[in-house]
Amino acid sequence: MKPRQKLRKGIILVSFFLFPATFYYLSPVLIIQAAINGVINGSFILFLLMFLSALVLGRGYCGWVCPGAGCQEALFSARNNRVKKGDYVKWLIWVPWVGAIVILAVRGGGYSRIDFFYQTTHGLSIGDLGGLIAYLMVLFLLIVLPALIFGRRSFCHHLCWMAPFMILGREIRNVFEWPSLLLKAEAEKCTHCHTCTENCPMSLPVENMVQSAKMENSECILCGTCIDGCPAGVIQYDYRTGKNRVTL
Ligand code: SF4
Ligand code: SF4
Repeated sequence: MKPRQKLRKGIILVSFFLFPATFYYLSPVLIIQAAINGVINGSFILFLLMFLSALVLGRGYCGWVCPGAGCQEALFSARNNRVKKGDYVKWLIWVPWVGAIVILAVRGGGYSRIDFFYQTTHGLSIGDLGGLIAYLMVLFLLIVLPALIFGRRSFCHHLCWMAPFMILGREIRNVFEWPSLLLKAEAEKCTHCHTCTENCPMSLPVENMVQSAKMENSECILCGTCIDGCPAGVIQYDYRTGKNRVTL
């Protein structure tokens, strides 16, 4: 494994180990409770930051930071089949969820204060037995079980309530074509070994993307696995404006 991938896997594993502390800052439930009480809480702020980061870094958060990524990639050794369908499912969750937050915030009179540490215990998420049970249920039912049943990073494809913020951010970036982190490829160097497609953590048809010169995909998490695994050095990171990029 290339040093960059060791670093990436190390970062997401540490992030996963810290998940009991950071859990509330990524919670889809606390943001609803906070909206009712007119509070901009930690998860509201982090979801906003994810959206903003996607304007220049795409879904880099998903590939390099997310605690759920660390858990899911650790599970590759237990079940590593490719997930090819169902990306739309997370939108069926996200749209009514965001709608509920907006409606509840409006009905509650709007936001009146900011409390980043809302409902945490000295800034840490799990401060009592109830918090621990909620954490374990989310971890097992939403992240571990789908990965074991459906395969590689199933949570990212089917259930993640954070991914749509970043997908929307990168779509806006694509419309305005400002400089951002992307993949680029030199298709003529490809030896058709299929390594990139077989190893992509998001089960993308990377070799086809290379051949069609369309390296942009809303499910790409910019993890760099395809870059570091390609024996011919076909794929690279790129940071440039839309006019010059080898995407879309
Ligand atoms: S296409 Fe490459 S960078 Fe994107 S998710 Fe797949 S392996 Fe990672
Ligand atoms: S890993 Fe590289 S050489 Fe192999 S199919 Fe993918 S782009 Fe082509």
